[in-house]
Formats: sequence, structure tokens, C-alpha cells
Amino acid sequence: MKFIWLGFLIAIILEVHAFGMQAASALPEKLPAEAAPVVSSKPLPVSMVSSQANPSSTATGSEKEPSYGELSSLGQLPDWKKLERYAKQLTRVEFEKAWQDIYSETNGLPPPWHVVDEMLMVPTQGKEAEPLKLAFRNPNEDARDIQTTWRRAASLPPLAGRPVLSDLRISLDPGHLGGSWAQIEERFLSFKDGEKVCEGDLTLMVAKILSERLKALGAIVSMVRDQPEPVTELRPKDFEQTARDLLTKSGFSNAQMTYAGLSGDSKLLTVQWQSEKLFYRVSEIHARGTKVNEELKPDLVLCLHLNAESWGNSTAPQFSPLNHLHVLVNGCYSRDELLQQDVRHEMLMRLFSRIHEEELPLAVSVGEALARHTKLPAYVYTTSKARRVTESQYVYARNLLANRLYQCPVVYLEPFVMNHEETYRRLLLGHYLGRTLLDGKLVTSALEDYVRGVTDGLTDYYRRNRQP
Ligand SMILES: [Zn+2]
Repeated sequence: MKFIWLGFLIAIILEVHAFGMQAASALPEKLPAEAAPVVSSKPLPVSMVSSQANPSSTATGSEKEPSYGELSSLGQLPDWKKLERYAKQLTRVEFEKAWQDIYSETNGLPPPWHVVDEMLMVPTQGKEAEPLKLAFRNPNEDARDIQTTWRRAASLPPLAGRPVLSDLRISLDPGHLGGSWAQIEERFLSFKDGEKVCEGDLTLMVAKILSERLKALGAIVSMVRDQPEPVTELRPKDFEQTARDLLTKSGFSNAQMTYAGLSGDSKLLTVQWQSEKLFYRVSEIHARGTKVNEELKPDLVLCLHLNAESWGNSTAPQFSPLNHLHVLVNGCYSRDELLQQDVRHEMLMRLFSRIHEEELPLAVSVGEALARHTKLPAYVYTTSKARRVTESQYVYARNLLANRLYQCPVVYLEPFVMNHEETYRRLLLGHYLGRTLLDGKLVTSALEDYVRGVTDGLTDYYRRNRQP
């Protein structure tokens, strides 16, 4: 058993986040999705690759049937009955196409469900529990209208001469946290005393400017976070026991409490580091999910991020020659992720409510417009965690906590590499209109390019798809 949990731990360490191996995300548990994507395309050290155990080896091999009842980190027990309203909603062909084209990994293992007599059979709370049986729609019958809190472009009231985003409810979700939280979150970059680039402060700045532009086009804009502070009321100390339990489960029962003076893997194996991760990467996104789904109920969420390449040690960061852009939609679930019942339930809710039918073309439109304004090349994923799902080279599907939990179309933006030298210097200049001189060259504001790209992408999409 210890080997399996160690496998999880190592597999998760390999899910390197924006800030490289030094700051790898190492929840010693089957954390299925981070709040931000893998960006490092550099080869991983052989020692780590070779020790990457497949946590489902017990589940998918001949050894043992999986339990199907486990939950993701801090995941809630799902209400499986909620899926019953989708009976006879999709035809079998529609379901299988969405699964194969978007929600599955390209070379993934079979999903933990099967079809019997045109009925989808899904394991629910565990292998002993009654499976969910969902009948497919006969292709000769019409689909019933399913009530959702979000509306497609085509279902919004006609424009009748009003601005193109009139009536549209957009929630802006500035990624990460700002202020003093940036260092804990490892979203703090400084190459010189007295200067800094913090992702969570920049995304909030983008959100505030974007909000005004979208309102001017008629949109009803809400903010998932409108200050540097977290949305969750919990704090790292509230997760110390959970962190200790996870470390113990992974075979590290004598984990050190704090990481002062530690670096690399030893830092990741402390209660402090793990409880902070649970706070800002899991609990915070769950709190945002509750706010989006129960309070804001938008037609669309835009998750605003800036990307980074591995910058090594945060006290002596490195510039990267790379600079790029990509946009994420929800999809590309691994079998391991789907063995967790909350993840399986959330994925099926998205698929059956056809969120992808609106989310993908929206992402394409915003991605293409961002590329025009930022002139950034497309990022290319080299891991199986993400896959191309549209004709656009900028759009990838990935199962992230935010784009899975928010029950509406989510477009998750990752333009710019913050530790690309020119980008870093442009970001230090903040937001401005027009051009300014930087190292003898006239440059636009990276933040303004970001805002214009998103605004144009949305304008293009809703102009094409709304009733006049
Ligand atoms: Zn981010």
C-alpha cells in the first residue's frame, strides 16, 4: 500500500506547475487537477520519470477491482440522482463522440463505465453501490430542453440594435491570490530588489480593466475575486491535520512541521507546504466554485492567468527564452481521475449538459483574438495531461479544478510567460495605453493586449452567434 501512495506522491510531483521543479505541486494524494496548467515542456529528470508509478496499477491491472468510491482532495460526496434528469438527453453516438473527442485522454485507458442495452451504466458511490443507469435518447426522438443556469449565445434575447454583449452575464476569475499571499503561492517573481511581478495582482488588474470594457459592450460583469485576499474563509492552519494524514498515508509519518531552511523535495514533504497547497490550490478553488455556481450563476466564466516557464530557485530566478499563449477548456480526463466519484460525477454533468458545445467555440474565438493582439506563438503541450480538441492550435482541453467545478462554459486563459525577459519588463510597466519606450524599443502594455484580445474574441463570438 505504501508503494501505491508513494506512486501518487511522485506522480503528483511530476505535475509541475508554472514554476518548475523547485515549486512542483506535491500533494501526496490523488489531486486530479490543479488550478493552473503544467507549463514546463522541459524533459523531467530521469530519476523522477523512472520512479513515476501508475497509481491505478492496482485498479487497471489484473490485481484488484477499483473501489470507485474514493473522493478527490477535499471533494464532496456527489448527489448521483442529479444526473437522472439527463436520461434520454444524448444519443449514444453524441455521448461517445463527446467522450472520444473531448473528455477522454487521446491514448487513455477505458473509462470506468459501460453500455448495456443502450443504457449507460456508471459506478456511483463504490463497487457495492447501485450503478447509475442512464438511458440514451433514441436518435428519432427530440431532446428535451434541460434547464441550466447559463445561456448559450443563441438563447440570449435578440440584440435589437443594442451592444453585442447586452444581457450576457460574465464572471471574471482572476487566478491565484495577491499581496502577501503571492509568495506562499509561489506566484512571486523578482529579478531585482524593489521590483516584482505577482501573477495574482496582475490578473486582478486585468480583471478590473476588462470589466469596464465588457460593461461598455453591455455585459453584466461579476468578479469571483475582487481583492488580493482569498475567497475561502479557511486558512493553511485549518489543513494541518489533513496534510499530516496525507503525508502519513504516503509513507512520511515523521514529516517535519515547517519548511524554514529547506528546499527542493524536502520542502514539499513538510506539513506546512502541504497545508498551504490544500488552502490555496484546493480549498480556494472549491470556495470559488460555490460562489460561481450558487451566487453568481453566469453564462460564462473567464479564468485569467499568466503563464511561466520553470524559473528554478525563487531567490535566484532564471529568465526563459520562451513566450507563448494557450487557452484551456475542460476535458482530457485520465482513468485515474475518473475513478474518483466526485470527478466522475462532475465530468458527466458537464458532458450531459452539453457545456462543451458552447465552451469550445468560445475558447477558439478568444484564443485566436488573443493571438492577434499579443502576437504570441501557441504553446505546445508535451504531456498526456492536455490535448488539442479544436482546429485552433491555441486551444487545449485539460481537467483543472476550476474548469471542472464551475457549472457553465469556462474559458481559461494562459497568455505570456512572466519570466520571459521582455515580457517581465513589460509587466513591470503595468497598464497603459499606446506605446512606451523600453530598452530603446516602443512597446505596448502586455496587460492592455490581454484585455483587447479577450474583448475582441468575445465580440466576434457573440456577434456571430446571437440573434440580431
Ligand atoms: Zn496561473
